[in-house]
Amino acid sequence: MNKVFKQVPRILYGNGTLQRLTELLPQKDTVSAYYLYIVDDIHRQTGLIEKFHLDEEDLLICVDIAEHEPTTRQVDELRDKILASRETLPLALIAIGGGSVMDIGKAVSIMLTNEGTSAAYQGWDLVRNPPIFKVGVPTLSGTGAEASRTAVLTGPDKKMGINSDYSMFDAVLSDPDLVQTVPREQRFFTAMDCYIHCVESLEGTMINELSRSYAAKGLELCREVFIGEGDDGKLMVASYLGGCSIVNSEVGICHALSYGLSLELGLRHGLANCIAFNVLDDYYGDYVREMRQMVGVHGIKLPKDVTRALDAKAIERMMAMAVKMEKPLTNALGVNWAKVLTREVIFNLYSRM
Ligand code: NAD
Ligand code: ZN
Repeated sequence: MNKVFKQVPRILYGNGTLQRLTELLPQKDTVSAYYLYIVDDIHRQTGLIEKFHLDEEDLLICVDIAEHEPTTRQVDELRDKILASRETLPLALIAIGGGSVMDIGKAVSIMLTNEGTSAAYQGWDLVRNPPIFKVGVPTLSGTGAEASRTAVLTGPDKKMGINSDYSMFDAVLSDPDLVQTVPREQRFFTAMDCYIHCVESLEGTMINELSRSYAAKGLELCREVFIGEGDDGKLMVASYLGGCSIVNSEVGICHALSYGLSLELGLRHGLANCIAFNVLDDYYGDYVREMRQMVGVHGIKLPKDVTRALDAKAIERMMAMAVKMEKPLTNALGVNWAKVLTREVIFNLYSRM
């Protein structure tokens, strides 16, 4: 059945648009109104923090995501900290960073108005109360988190998104100037996340003309950037289109396998995806070869044998994580995916990573 396709209602795109952020925010019309900025801690070093014009009453929280990807615990602690420090809820939340910080911002906006732990909302359409108004400001291109209806978190026993219309941003500001400080390899791996979103969407059973249009253009822009001469402005648009495409379809086998890698080995999403995609010739053949070409052109080192050191229990947990990803696997292989992607096949794929 076709999905209802929600999109981010307001987008401000282009170099230098950061200065116009306030155009996307609701106006403060009471004395207690304040904005909550959740910013990647890295921007203390990149100098980006100084470019935001905070009012005295606003709350700035820098989050450190250097050690690990966002966790449910981290989100719960942030929510508790915000509620303890102010008597009222923020008028708007602004999340500034890569996919990790955008997801933290999305999840915090939900957890400020919903009870309990964020782990209880990992899954599909479990959020009850409308969240805080939120704006996403990506500083790294590829995840499409700025466009998607999920906030991906690692919980006590699984890596899974809060998949909900309430996870979507109310506005997005995409300014290519903000990605100029991203390290070269990180830029590549996160961009490949976008490339893989487009491939998995295009090659999936849930594809329709609407999502195909987004994915095809996103893929074309990735090729321009990594095989041709495309710039960060194009990559930022590709990221957004890849996100739109999966909102309206689903990811596939690569994502189902890569979540386990992140869970057990702590590998970042873009890198984990590249490692998983690299063994998926049987499913996404030409695209896998194209990714290897991009890896070669850009002199990127793709780690090998990452699963060799894992013991049997860890492999078992990864396999259990992979088969939890029913929607992506159904998208990739149809409703009878379990007959194709047997335990033995999954084991062999992990062994080759
Ligand atoms: P990230 O946000 O984890 O950041 C990677 C590194 O780049 C970090 O060290 C960060 O500090 C740094 N960084 C970010 N912007 C920078 C800048 N402008 N200059 C210098 N350094 C910068 O990386 P990511 O690949 O964007 O996000 C990965 C996360 O996104 C994962 O947790 C993944 O699960 C999630 N994700 C979410 C969705 C979604 O739809 N919600 C989709 C795909 C992935
Ligand atoms: Zn992804």
